[in-house]
Amino acid sequence: AARFQTFHYHLPPSLRGEVEPGHLVWIPFGAQEVQGIVVGPAISSPVETKAIDRLTRPQPVMTPAQLDMAFWIADYYVAPISEAVKLFLTPGLLSKSGEPPKVRAKREEQIELLIDPTSIRESLLGLKHSNKQAQVLATLLTPPYRAWSLKELRTACNLSLKGPISTLSTLQEKELVRVSDKKVNLAQPPESAEDAILALKGVSKYEPVLQALAHAAAPMWKTDLYAKVDTNLDSLRKLQDAGLIRLEHKVRYRDPLGGRIYPRSHPPTLTDQQQHVWDEIRATCFPVDASETNNLDPKKDSLASSSIRSAGFLLHGATGSGKTEIYLRAIAETLARNRQAIVLVPEIALTPQTVARFAGRFPDRVSVIHSGLNASQRYDVWRRTRDGQIDVIVGARSALFSPLPRLGLIIVDEEHESTYKQDTDEWGSFTVFYDARTLATRLAAATGSALIFGTATPSLDSYHAAQRGKLTLLEMPDRVMGHGKLDDTRPGEVAGPPAPPAYAALPPVEIVDMRQELRAGNRSIFSRSLQSELHAVLDAGEQAILFLNRRGTHSFVICRDCGFVTECARCETPLTYHERAAQLICHRCNAREPIPEHCPACRSHRIRFFGTGTQRIEELVSQIAPRARLLRWDRDTTGRKGSHEQILDRFASHEADVLIGTQMIAKGLDLPLVTLVGVVAADVGLYLPDFRGPERTFQLLTQVAGRAGRSRRGGHVIFQSYTPQHYALQAAAGHDYHAFYQREMDFRREQQYPPVSRLARLIFWHKKLETVEEQTDRMMRNLQLRTEEIGIWGDGVDLLGPAPAPYARFRSYYRWQIIIRTTDPSAFLHGIDIPFGWRVDVDPVSMM
Ligand code: ADP
Ligand code: ZN
Ligand code: ZN
Repeated sequence: AARFQTFHYHLPPSLRGEVEPGHLVWIPFGAQEVQGIVVGPAISSPVETKAIDRLTRPQPVMTPAQLDMAFWIADYYVAPISEAVKLFLTPGLLSKSGEPPKVRAKREEQIELLIDPTSIRESLLGLKHSNKQAQVLATLLTPPYRAWSLKELRTACNLSLKGPISTLSTLQEKELVRVSDKKVNLAQPPESAEDAILALKGVSKYEPVLQALAHAAAPMWKTDLYAKVDTNLDSLRKLQDAGLIRLEHKVRYRDPLGGRIYPRSHPPTLTDQQQHVWDEIRATCFPVDASETNNLDPKKDSLASSSIRSAGFLLHGATGSGKTEIYLRAIAETLARNRQAIVLVPEIALTPQTVARFAGRFPDRVSVIHSGLNASQRYDVWRRTRDGQIDVIVGARSALFSPLPRLGLIIVDEEHESTYKQDTDEWGSFTVFYDARTLATRLAAATGSALIFGTATPSLDSYHAAQRGKLTLLEMPDRVMGHGKLDDTRPGEVAGPPAPPAYAALPPVEIVDMRQELRAGNRSIFSRSLQSELHAVLDAGEQAILFLNRRGTHSFVICRDCGFVTECARCETPLTYHERAAQLICHRCNAREPIPEHCPACRSHRIRFFGTGTQRIEELVSQIAPRARLLRWDRDTTGRKGSHEQILDRFASHEADVLIGTQMIAKGLDLPLVTLVGVVAADVGLYLPDFRGPERTFQLLTQVAGRAGRSRRGGHVIFQSYTPQHYALQAAAGHDYHAFYQREMDFRREQQYPPVSRLARLIFWHKKLETVEEQTDRMMRNLQLRTEEIGIWGDGVDLLGPAPAPYARFRSYYRWQIIIRTTDPSAFLHGIDIPFGWRVDVDPVSMM
């Protein structure tokens, strides 16, 4: 396999001693000139070498640790090294020969105020001028204000014999001065006279500029100044010539947080549970008196007083238990030791609220990386990070590739989220199917960093790792009463001394059996219980969330009378309904069955499950509760940038009573008025042709349930289900992770699924079914040969498939897969030739 696509070049004399691993260079490649990364020196070359042309930029673009990581990634994920390296490069770095770089550093004038902000007017009034009217007014303004004779004025203003007469008559017409008995007086209060002077000098337009600079209390960028004040470069130059401001041409970084001011936040008193967890992390990773331990060991570098002991934790804390506060403490300790931190959050959680919690605690040290940034912003964040100007990066999974020179801490929040796995599978573009959690673990070990995985619902993989001692398990079972104090203090009442933080109970969950509803004659998609709770919430002026799981709504067949789910007779995998083939298909073994007309268990005809969209739910809610103000939050309504935030703000400010939404509402909402959460169809997601279906559903339901009862008002959760006995629902309803873990691990052991085994998924897609079948058959034969070739070890390899993958992704393509189960998929696959068009997914997270 061509996973080490490295090539040999030699250094021309001009570059000797200039080139290090990690440098981005221009090299001749065939007839072209292309860019390459220097990975290291070679003792000899298998071919005659050409010379490197030149460096793209003077400094290396990758650190040695990052190069190591790239090789590790290529090896582990069976990916070309070139693709692994690209993960670490910001898009703006690379360019084609002969073309200018796509992204350049941006330069702009920065404007600094040189005078005392309190003396802006005086400075302007003092500017030299030749306007006679202004001169006369200025003279009259000289304290103490008095009447001046014509003669006096003539001398003071250096005017000709006739001068004062014409000047004074103009001023008199403007009602600025009064002349009587050959004496001249100011006709306006001093303020107005000053205004008149500024206007006459033509400098009144400068005052707003100086005021804006004074208000900013720091140098301003030209475009920001222009946005505030109507001015131009000419005026700015004049002010500079007068010595009032300084203009300087500087590199301006495009900062994604630029311009936002975050309210400064301070650490609260920890709860007992937080304190316990924090004590353990601190004692393990951040020894209190590092300098003393260093003194005991004289060989140790004195810089090592900034040392952090590398260790990994799994922080299992209920929703709202205050995990973020633990992250903030860990970051503070890391910064205090002159080290830096990466905080990974799921893309969906990268809301301004999340960012504010970090940026507010560590002003000016935080930046963000997410898919909403353009290439220029990414490039600038990358550059400032590499230059050591940013100490905390908050971002989605790709933030892990930030070139922080002194990394000391990696946090993975909502560790269970499947978005940490890169698995967008696009035609024609190759991607490395990496898992940010795996890489975080590896990177923490390689850089001697502390590692914290945090979640209310650990992935089975991480919890299993904790059980086997690879991560230290820390638990915070109780929720902090975050909104308690707000509710207690009435307007006008003075808050007492800060009470120690209290705990709040998790909301009780009721599972409603929808089969019973049907039997009782209720054909609505809302149970009687959900309807009456909804009315109670509206009566009390509180808020409700209705949740709809969209993933795989249409794909499974369930009997609405008895809850029977069709499964493959051979592999016990739920069968998937395929409209196109008018069949039920097993995506594990490719078995096919006709669509049943009635339920094999109870003969009912209500065997088909019809998915419902959020829009339909909205209509139905407005029928049963016309007085409710509804707000819908799903992919359709959040297409526009920023609309996420808007919807959230509107619900938070109680502009709506009921929020109807999909997956995205499961996270991060912390709203005191929400006292009811209803899950419309809790079964959806349980019966997918993906062994992680129950795990995902458990996580989702637990997270959704966690949105209710965030204040003293309490809360209530309702799961509606046709299979209420399912262990994932029961465990989620009881807020019982451990029960779920035990049951789910039994299933994984029995079926030999991860975490008790490892998988790799080979995917091929094409427009022609014949090509797909031919290719997948050939691959299958190669894989079988490989198992024979490796002998005894091959006995531990299972090959499943080929079978169609559950999602076609694009209608006109067939997409098939082969699943390999073995202890070391990477090693197994390194012996296999992987032709163009195949994708390799090592440790797949989604089987869809
Ligand atoms: P999690 O990340 O575990 O879901 P959060 O960190 O969001 O929980 O905390 C939930 C709420 O409790 C937030 O409003 C937070 O500000 C508050 N909180 C957390 N720790 C404390 C504390 N020690 N004292 C008071 N309030 C706290
Ligand atoms: Zn039935
Ligand atoms: Zn099957």
